[in-house]
Amino acid sequence: SSFRYRPEILQGVGELLTYDLKKYEDWFLLDATVLKKITDDFVKELEKGLTKEGGNVPMNVTWVMNFPNGHEEGRYLTIDMGGTNLRVCYVSLCPRKRDFEQTQRKYKIPSEIKSGTGEQLWNFIADHLQAFMKENFIEAPEDQPLPLAFTFSWPVYQKTIRSGILQRWTKKFNVSGVEGEDIIPQLEAALARKKIPVQVVALLNDTTGTLIASHYRDPHVKVGSIFSTGTNAAYMEECRLIPKLEEYGLPEDAKVIINTEYGAIDNDCKILPLTSFDRQIDEESLRPGTQIYEKMVSGLYIGEMIRLIMLKMHGEGQLFQGQDVTRLRQNNALDATFLSIAELDISEGLDDMREEFENELSLSPSIDEMKVCRYLIGLIATRAARLYACGIAAICKKNKINKCHVGVDGFVFNKYSGFKDRAMQGLRDIFDWPHDEVGPISLNASEDGSGVGAALAAALALKEGRQIGI
Ligand code: BGC
Ligand code: MG
Repeated sequence: SSFRYRPEILQGVGELLTYDLKKYEDWFLLDATVLKKITDDFVKELEKGLTKEGGNVPMNVTWVMNFPNGHEEGRYLTIDMGGTNLRVCYVSLCPRKRDFEQTQRKYKIPSEIKSGTGEQLWNFIADHLQAFMKENFIEAPEDQPLPLAFTFSWPVYQKTIRSGILQRWTKKFNVSGVEGEDIIPQLEAALARKKIPVQVVALLNDTTGTLIASHYRDPHVKVGSIFSTGTNAAYMEECRLIPKLEEYGLPEDAKVIINTEYGAIDNDCKILPLTSFDRQIDEESLRPGTQIYEKMVSGLYIGEMIRLIMLKMHGEGQLFQGQDVTRLRQNNALDATFLSIAELDISEGLDDMREEFENELSLSPSIDEMKVCRYLIGLIATRAARLYACGIAAICKKNKINKCHVGVDGFVFNKYSGFKDRAMQGLRDIFDWPHDEVGPISLNASEDGSGVGAALAAALALKEGRQIGI
């Protein structure tokens, strides 16, 4: 197989530290045959999600039924509630130029909010929106509230584009009183309490925003995806191929963006080659038995993966002998940046890595120990990237897309060195593209789904006055 990893890093490292690594290679190196099988199984999961009975994968209907045509105009407020930050933007769309102007501000979401009550969460958002509008002198014309688009990075069941029932919290969120409820009336109540003159015209997922924004700039984009704290993708589907929409009697040629929520693939653990570490990460997560695929690949969990492996090797007498591993024992002591810094470090003494070990874990490993860790990190990140490729490949395969661009946003995709190349190699293996060629499906960095993407969703929603369903 054309699959490559980096055993050079291990040159000169003694037997004691390396004799066990074969085991990790067996667990983490997924060859082309395995990836192809996983992709085909994923295709079936995506299809199941579109049926009336449904499956593990929500395949949520977003009610965004067109791509922007470039003539959209107007001014929109957008709020992006993500796993880490709240971002507020004021976007002006310039018609005919496929261009826009925007003012924005980011606020970190405090951890109390992530596990507080719904009311606290909605007030937090309303407060920051109000402050943002004041700071930027944004006022609504008399008697006319400003249109607002809300990007919400969790799975919602939508009957219209202006509403959505939260199916479940994912990532590190656990806010009470919101699951199973329509989030828009809750947000609107907080906006009304503070008399903020806005009207929610669109609710969308971050992948939907990414798809819209990247298609706006590049019409070859057919899939929008996030690879960050969490993992997900959206694409445009033909409504006649969505059995669960049958009862809506939509026109024969209608299309709609589907937010796959494919992080939920394999919640019954039949497809993916889970290791004991994956099972432990799932069991110790806020919602065991959910988002199994996401937990194997995304930024929130890969730090935990290396921690668990280092801890196991320590317990087996291999790493950090005689050192105090108290911090290494703490759940979630490491995040994706630790891995990324380690892989970027090409200095002879692995100085950046050493500093990370000291700062994050109070450990002083030997060079050889660091080389072993760095090798393991490569295995973890490579597995994540290759499994990520399976999700994208499955969407393309299911939809018979042979050629397209995929717009991808998220800090792991954009900042983790080598991630994109590894994922592209995964696609090459799955589709048997010739080696070292840019394949017909490419992953391209995309940004600003929750700014311009959300504003465009709002413009489309207003234009079509869409309120299908109910
Ligand atoms: C959420 C998705 C979101 C993804 C990326 C997942 O945990 O369920 O709605 O698109 O994270 O932010
Ligand atoms: Mg985000």
